[in-house]
Amino acid sequence: MKILAFNWKLNPLTEREALSLSSLSDRKDVILFPPAVFLNAVVRRTKRAEVGVQNLFWETEGAFTGETSPVMIKSLGVRWALVGHSERRKYFEETDETVNKKIKAAFAAGLNVILCVGEPMSARKKGIHAARAFVRKQLVRGLSGIRNSKFLPAQAGKIRNLAVAYEPIWAISGGAVHHPSDTPKDSAEMAKFIKETLFSGFHSLNPEVLYGGSVDSKNVADFLKPREVDGVLIGGASVKKEELKKIFKRAN
Ligand code: PEP
Repeated sequence: MKILAFNWKLNPLTEREALSLSSLSDRKDVILFPPAVFLNAVVRRTKRAEVGVQNLFWETEGAFTGETSPVMIKSLGVRWALVGHSERRKYFEETDETVNKKIKAAFAAGLNVILCVGEPMSARKKGIHAARAFVRKQLVRGLSGIRNSKFLPAQAGKIRNLAVAYEPIWAISGGAVHHPSDTPKDSAEMAKFIKETLFSGFHSLNPEVLYGGSVDSKNVADFLKPREVDGVLIGGASVKKEELKKIFKRAN
């Protein structure tokens, strides 16, 4: 079963709409990432889909106005945390170091993590080697200290608490979708590179790898096809009901 992860970003505007989207998306292969204020309602509404938070803080409690604790999130019945999304890196100055702290805090609270990585256009323009080097650095820094820690199972093999979303920054939110590298073949090659990097450099770490970047009903079947890609992370198209219905049809 391939994963369909939906990042609603800062949408929709009301709980009513959030519940309506949740009902429409309530399938076993779906992970929903609603805005934090709707988490409780979405967890209660869904029976088959799993639910995740778009962001969290690395401290559990204390004088940190405006932040949300991983323990609070977990207590709602939330299973996943999205960490390191390029919009958080861009608008909220998240770094590989804060990403690393957040992953450790999420694991400590018992949440599963989708770590987002992806290169900017400036790296991609220099060629595939520069793009890979950029992604490799994000993986190494973001997962620093995690391989030998208490956070991951010691044995080799598939793990369930970490997935990686490869999202080239230039392909997100209808970015440079016509760039020649925005193809299922390119994303499959990068997914393979990510798996090899984590398997050899991280003590046989073997997470699922998703692709994200303007995936919609027209291209979802193609992006889901390669063996190396375990699912897709969809933003904009996942909050449009007609698109959503078509995505499910094509993904089946
Ligand atoms: C995302 O937010 O992770 C994403 C891939 O967005 P979009 O599908 O809108 O490009």
